[in-house]
Amino acid sequence: MHYLPVPDYHMHTPRCNHAKGSVRDYADAAIKLDLNEIGISDHSPMPGGFDKDWRMHQSEMASYLSEIEQTRDALAEQLVVRVGLEADFHPGTEDYVSNMIASYPWDYVIGSVHYIGDWGFDNPDCMDEWKDRDINKAYCAYFELVGQSARSGLFDIIGHPDLIKKFGHRADPDNALVKAAEEAMLQAVLQSGAALEISSAGLRKPVKEIYPHNRIVQRAAELHIPFSFGSDAHSPAEVGRDMDACLATLQSFGITEIASFEQRSMTMRALSHA
Ligand code: ZN
Ligand code: FE
Ligand code: FE
Ligand code: ZN
Repeated sequence: MHYLPVPDYHMHTPRCNHAKGSVRDYADAAIKLDLNEIGISDHSPMPGGFDKDWRMHQSEMASYLSEIEQTRDALAEQLVVRVGLEADFHPGTEDYVSNMIASYPWDYVIGSVHYIGDWGFDNPDCMDEWKDRDINKAYCAYFELVGQSARSGLFDIIGHPDLIKKFGHRADPDNALVKAAEEAMLQAVLQSGAALEISSAGLRKPVKEIYPHNRIVQRAAELHIPFSFGSDAHSPAEVGRDMDACLATLQSFGITEIASFEQRSMTMRALSHA
């Protein structure tokens, strides 16, 4: 089954120090899968020393952009290649991110929360801290930050919106505070007009589940929040991975369209399969 009109908007390059393959390799992988559109979204520079080992340095931005542009232009007949970025949302860095976004005509910018305070909760090296954390409270703090990321108005796509579950730590699904935090996050996304990312990456992580959870997909569908798809590929072999499973999930909740982006303007496309 091929879902030709669905773009994969989340993939990385070796500049972030934890991905492999050239932009051309990612594009070639997409063409082999009969995709007609991808977007590159490497981890952006961030100010100060924020998480510097896991992202490109400011000095690599020019080569990042020119590599994408060259591949885009070389493959123009075969594949649409969008120029994107995965920026972190981290309170206090908004001005830096805003300036970075203003400095280039991006097709879209994904906003992702990978830190609660100075705790890199999705970093395998920071796993120990989970032992000292109340899981319900961690979920609440996480969803509050994702909501803030939407309210910042900086982002076109809200990335992997329940990444907090990556290692399989589960909040109590009936906890009223967690449920309220989840709802507040979705209301913020709705107000912002951003798309919510459905990501297959969670299937490759200990949690072995799509981001976000079905309950969030269902509620987002009720609210008519648009979705975009991302594999979060860190190697060319991961491009388009489990797109079918993500689209089946969306369709099971009555969703019939998927978001596409050009120059930061969103267009919805009908989900159809051949
Ligand atoms: Zn990454
Ligand atoms: Fe991320
Ligand atoms: Fe990513
Ligand atoms: Zn990611």
